Amino acid sequence: MATNTRARELVAEGRDVISFAAGEPDFPTPEHIVAAATRAARDPVHHHYTAAAGHPELREAVAEYTRRHSEVEVGAAEVAITNGAKQAVFNTFAAILDPGDEVLLPAPYWVTYPASVKLAGGNPVLVKTTPATSFKVTVEDLEAAVTERTRALVLVSPSNPTGAFYREEELKTIGEWAISNRVWVVADEIYQRLVYPTGIAPSIAAASPGLETWILINGVAKSYAMTGWRVGWMVGPRDVVDAGVRLQSHATSNVNNIAQAAALAAVTGPQETVEQMRAAFDRRRKLMFDLVSGIEGISCIEPEGAFYVFPDVTGLLGSRFADAVELSEAILEDAGAAVIPGDSFGAPGFIRLSYATGDEDIKTGLGRIAGMFGSL
Ligand code: PMP
Repeated sequence: MATNTRARELVAEGRDVISFAAGEPDFPTPEHIVAAATRAARDPVHHHYTAAAGHPELREAVAEYTRRHSEVEVGAAEVAITNGAKQAVFNTFAAILDPGDEVLLPAPYWVTYPASVKLAGGNPVLVKTTPATSFKVTVEDLEAAVTERTRALVLVSPSNPTGAFYREEELKTIGEWAISNRVWVVADEIYQRLVYPTGIAPSIAAASPGLETWILINGVAKSYAMTGWRVGWMVGPRDVVDAGVRLQSHATSNVNNIAQAAALAAVTGPQETVEQMRAAFDRRRKLMFDLVSGIEGISCIEPEGAFYVFPDVTGLLGSRFADAVELSEAILEDAGAAVIPGDSFGAPGFIRLSYATGDEDIKTGLGRIAGMFGSL
């Protein structure tokens, strides 16, 4: 927030600021989805409430989407449509946590996770990961953190902010651990189709067939460039989904009816745009990774999913900048480039740069940052 506020002030002063701070695709929503929403807006059928759990047709379509992409057998009754994946996260913790329950949260984490756990009365227990394991938790890490109060484990794959994703064997092992420790796995799959070595990230629900206590979090925001439409979903056991829906029915009721029509068009319509955006992100990923890695004092593992690079900047800290927060401020002031300090994600000594921005901006912005520190 502080970065964005300062970036806006600089723009107001006439400075040219390039933002690597965005957590959303820079593309417009594909035209056929916008057309479906326009049609829906003109049809009075869509001018009313839907069921709190979502339009039956959309729930069915999301069940089919989940069967296709997460490769797990689910039906419409196990799906609830939410105001963005964010509300699915909120509903999930509210449904499964009792006050004082602990949730294992691998760090670096997406900032909403600790907040959402706390809002539900739970305690986030951070499980630190490092570039040495590509920022992925191991069973040993989990063993060291588990207590009798542990109720759930969060797994975001691919990850915001690190871009790492778990392979099938890793998920199988973690799933077995979750079964023997009787914990829920809250699996955030919002970036599942933005994976570059392969087309899709595997789901723990499929990789660990014996695991029954999973809740999948997903939505249209990232794959279809629809962050502003606010449509996500949770998929899981009926009692948990129903509890989430009861809460939602009193908090917000259904998701905007017209946005649901747009989401239906997204998940059932042509899928070429997903691949086109993925190809563009992949090109920018390589460009940004190469440019970031070439800056003296920065080291970076190659991200494989989502649209972020998460370099270690400890080589630049010390006399000039005490920490990544000061460094990010200097990058904004001196290079006119907005980056986010890793401290916000529970990882001091790192910064996050989003490559969901134009190729030219990546070249110019990284060129200016390299100018501050001297490129190789
Ligand atoms: N999960 C993760 C890991 C995210 O990065 C985000 C968006 N930043 C979300 C969920 C939220 O998505 P939505 O816009 O659908 O609420």
